[in-house]
Amino acid sequence: MKSSGAILVLSGPSGAGKSSLIKKVSSELGEYYFSISTTTRPMRDGEVHGKDYYFVSAEEFKKDIEEEQFLEYAVVHGNYYGTSVKPVKEALKAGKLVVFDIDVQGNMSVKNRFSDITTSIFITTPSLKELEHRLRFRGTDKEEIIQNRISMAKREVQRISEYEFFIVNEDLEKAAKHLLTIAKAARLKIPTSEINKFIIDWEN
Ligand code: 5GP
Repeated sequence: MKSSGAILVLSGPSGAGKSSLIKKVSSELGEYYFSISTTTRPMRDGEVHGKDYYFVSAEEFKKDIEEEQFLEYAVVHGNYYGTSVKPVKEALKAGKLVVFDIDVQGNMSVKNRFSDITTSIFITTPSLKELEHRLRFRGTDKEEIIQNRISMAKREVQRISEYEFFIVNEDLEKAAKHLLTIAKAARLKIPTSEINKFIIDWEN
């Protein structure tokens, strides 16, 4: 019966391993669309425009806000981050699982707008110490930015209860297995409109 798509929101501190987890399960996820956000933050070494993010200026971002191009947007670590509405709607229409890597503010916006088809997971490291270690080991950010990310992470973990699921990424294999199980269930969520249609058809 199900023909429309579903949304899987992943949040958690930078350095918690969200991207590695997605990469690990990607071949088993079925048809999915990973939402590429737009940001005004500077590009990190190794990042690619159009793959990791669409990197734009603050002026371009503000223009997109005015033109209502974003499904949601937020200021994170002093930079704008936003999800464009058009590709998401197209992917949903094509019946895909749309995966978002967005912050706690973004999760609330998506939840408010698409509550019936959204599943949310908060992913984090086993401890703050481990997060600090991973951020330093990654070596992509300056100390000031690392400190920023750490204080942000402390604030974000306070909001874990806003999520339906919570994965502690201690053992990558185990965390990936849990992510896959949740993603499979996320796909089975039925939009309210389809349920209503089913009820009408069922009665006739
Ligand atoms: P990073 O700079 O490490 O790539 O991302 C910083 C934070 O911004 C992460 O928590 C990430 O989930 C969040 N983020 C990335 N894209 C978006 C977006 O489009 N919307 C929102 N609300 N947050 C985003």
